[in-house]
Amino acid sequence: MNTYNNTIDKFNEHVMLTYGRFPLVAESGSGRTCVDENGKKYLDLGSGIGTNSLGYCDKKWADAVCAQVRAIQHTSNYYYTGIQADFAEKLCEITGYSKMFLGNSGAEANECAIKIARKYSFDKYGKGRHNIITLVNSFHGRTLTTLSATGQDSFHNYFFPFTEGFIYAEANNISDLKEKLDDTVCAVMIEYVQGEGGVNCLDKDFVDAVYELCSAKDVLVIADEVQTGAGRTGKFLAGQHYGKQADITTMAKGIGGGLPIGVCLTNEKCSTVLVPGTHGSTFGGNPVVCAGGLAVLERVTENGFLDSVAEKAEYIKTELEKSDEVESVTGLGLMIGIKLRTKNAGEVVKTALDKGLLLLTAKDKVRLLPPLTIEMKELEDGISLLKKILEE
Ligand SMILES: *Cc1c(COP(=O)(O)O)cnc(C)c1O
Repeated sequence: MNTYNNTIDKFNEHVMLTYGRFPLVAESGSGRTCVDENGKKYLDLGSGIGTNSLGYCDKKWADAVCAQVRAIQHTSNYYYTGIQADFAEKLCEITGYSKMFLGNSGAEANECAIKIARKYSFDKYGKGRHNIITLVNSFHGRTLTTLSATGQDSFHNYFFPFTEGFIYAEANNISDLKEKLDDTVCAVMIEYVQGEGGVNCLDKDFVDAVYELCSAKDVLVIADEVQTGAGRTGKFLAGQHYGKQADITTMAKGIGGGLPIGVCLTNEKCSTVLVPGTHGSTFGGNPVVCAGGLAVLERVTENGFLDSVAEKAEYIKTELEKSDEVESVTGLGLMIGIKLRTKNAGEVVKTALDKGLLLLTAKDKVRLLPPLTIEMKELEDGISLLKKILEE
């Protein structure tokens, strides 16, 4: 056995190098502050990666999770638990959807959506109508099928053969979509705001066209709200900004408050497509995760909570736009992309880390996904530090 004098060497010796990690060893967290193993504090404007929507170790969330882990931590999905039923009831009540499948990640939620879309079409029209249109620059996950769904060539490498049946249309290009939406297509899958793709919002006209064209041909609309969902954009679902409810919506990241969950929600039309034997997950809907999820749902639906998300978002946008280094600010609510004039986004993130500020990138932009619970004072400090970094 080797001995290691630091965590990073020990980790890298034993865990695959699938991430370009920063040299931060997180040890604890409280509110919006992450503390590393040397006691250095960081203000987290990334919520982990959009996951810790209530910040670190929120009291009510942690109490709910701990109570559940002491009551019953897991049981087979051949049985029921009360907490799963409570979580599912609340989520249907908030979203207006009829039913859901519970999994453990965004990619799994999207896999479920893809299976539902294909089976819906197969049951009704038979073979040959299995294609799914996704958008160029989208991101839908890391499994082989969700990599296929991801509309970026750089993800379609090494792991051949990929799952067939995905067609890529240009975002915000209605005629390209029209042309590709032929009789082989069973669904169109969109992110209202492309997250990994660079925090780009879809145009209202384009979203209107997606829904119109799809509804005319009984083609399902799938909204990947893995990153935009659970209050991130200032509405519970980003679709509400567009006045739209997809046939299928997937959620993950923020809805568990930092625990692994993936949800695939469907309307009435698709709610009986999956039947016993067609889909499943050993850990899906884990009671501890559902307890955390329910605590998130309860918080984000408190009176005024989502309004405060929108207000904080407005503050960030206004402040950042004052900076000469900022070319543009994109996104919706607390999902923010910052295009810089001269600086490299990755370098900015490194400098910020050094100065105790955690940021993310998306393509060539700096990306912010602050905890929804962030306080005005913290935001003022964080944004003024960020502006200082951008301007120095
Ligand atoms: C993060 C993300 C995913 C993948 O989620 P995982 O939990 O990593 O599988 C899928 N779609 C979107 C829009 C995402 O942001």
